[in-house]
Amino acid sequence: MPARHRVVIIGGGFGGLSAARALKRAPVEVTMLDRCNYHLFQPLLYQVATGALSPANIAAPLRRVLRHHRNTRVLLAEAVDIEVANRSVALSDGKVGYDTLIVATGARHHYFGKEQWEELAPGLKTIEDATHIRRRIFLAFEAAERECDPEKIRAWLTFVIVGAEPTGVEMAGALGEIANDTLKHDFRKINPSEARILLVEGADRVLPPFPPALSHSAQRMLARLGVTIRTGAVVADVTPEAVNLREGSLVEVIPTRTVVWAAGVQASPLGRILAHQTGAALDRSGRVVVEPDLSLPGYPEIFVIGDLAHFSRHGGKPLPGIAQPAIQQGRYVAKLIERRVRSKSTGPFHYFDQGTMATIGRSAAVADLRCVRLSGLPAWLVWLFIHLMYIVEFQNRLLVFLQWAWNYYTFNRSARLITGKNPLPLDL
Ligand SMILES: Cc1cc2nc3c(=O)[nH]c(=O)nc-3n(C[C@H](O)[C@H](O)[C@H](O)COP(=O)(O)OP(=O)(O)OC[C@H]3O[C@@H](n4cnc5c(N)ncnc54)[C@H](O)[C@@H]3O)c2cc1C
Repeated sequence: MPARHRVVIIGGGFGGLSAARALKRAPVEVTMLDRCNYHLFQPLLYQVATGALSPANIAAPLRRVLRHHRNTRVLLAEAVDIEVANRSVALSDGKVGYDTLIVATGARHHYFGKEQWEELAPGLKTIEDATHIRRRIFLAFEAAERECDPEKIRAWLTFVIVGAEPTGVEMAGALGEIANDTLKHDFRKINPSEARILLVEGADRVLPPFPPALSHSAQRMLARLGVTIRTGAVVADVTPEAVNLREGSLVEVIPTRTVVWAAGVQASPLGRILAHQTGAALDRSGRVVVEPDLSLPGYPEIFVIGDLAHFSRHGGKPLPGIAQPAIQQGRYVAKLIERRVRSKSTGPFHYFDQGTMATIGRSAAVADLRCVRLSGLPAWLVWLFIHLMYIVEFQNRLLVFLQWAWNYYTFNRSARLITGKNPLPLDL
């Protein structure tokens, strides 16, 4: 067999997986490497964090997803460096050579230089993050039930979500439902509906990238779920027992035991490594500025896609860090590689904007689609349909659908498990 063109894809998220899928019939040898053995459907992570879905419902083993791709091997591996001069990816435990490289390692949350807050205000990006947040939420209700001091009970029942972009809004809405519906009959001493849920946002409205009318509609729906919105406020400090909010020159101390971080993202560290190796520019979030065909300047064999890429047309606003750009870029790069191997050229990448959505709770969502803006039940139905469509693997699609139907009629969230290390004795 003549040696085939070797394509290495780092990252099996939305971008990397869509590239691997689109290369199924290409005359190339694909190596997909990821430090997790599964593809994660991040848009539903907040449902794991709030006990509505189990982790396995939103993750699909990469080996299974790509089992029919005869030209593809899947490796459980972490990329730690890219040696562009000899075209190889250094792993934490080995090396893989490439002819073409696709880097799709996504982003992490960002604490704007206050990394010490991560321990106290976890962000939501991985399954581990989601189960950790779930543990903290449900432990807070348990501790409040055991506590006798009213002030301490109030702190346990205060939940602060920092950042009112879609993830923050979704978390706040789900917490509102937990407090008002899910746990309604489950405690004897505390009344879960007395929980205080604060959604903090530095801008002047929630969902700042959405049209103002949809932001206001989202605010009304959140208020109905008992969420208090604090716009124009920023976090000045986080301690184990409080959050300090700054609004103008005023600082308010809010006693709380549960803070969730949904503000700011930072590109994967491989961006910095690539910039160092190739001289490519980075933007403020550490994203790599790519050429119109998503390659790196001077390195036509290296492509960067998804959340790690800064792609803008004619120096305009870069594409948002959401799933659609990653998916479309993965498909585009796969097509380009296949055509290049066949000695054909391809034009630049064009993004087809399908709009954005955020859900708030039962029958409550907002959607800014290409031709129409929706809120409430119609937006929620569109949100349900689209999320179900994009979940990888039919089995998970079916399980999530059944789980949602069950939760809708029973108001239950059956995955509200406190897992991890034994939490006892409680920190009362
Ligand atoms: C909580 C949350 C909610 C979201 N909700 C929405 C939504 O509702 N709609 C929407 O469109 N978008 C949403 N997004 C954004 C969307 O998930 C991302 O834009 C998308 O996942 C980006 O795809 P990607 O392929 O660039 O990166 P990712 O999907 O993050 O994939 C990166 C992959 O790289 C792997 N990896 C990272 N570093 C290494 C390494 N060094 N070595 C090996 N493997 C590595 C990771 O394990 C991961 O599998 C949400 C994101 C989050 C976190």
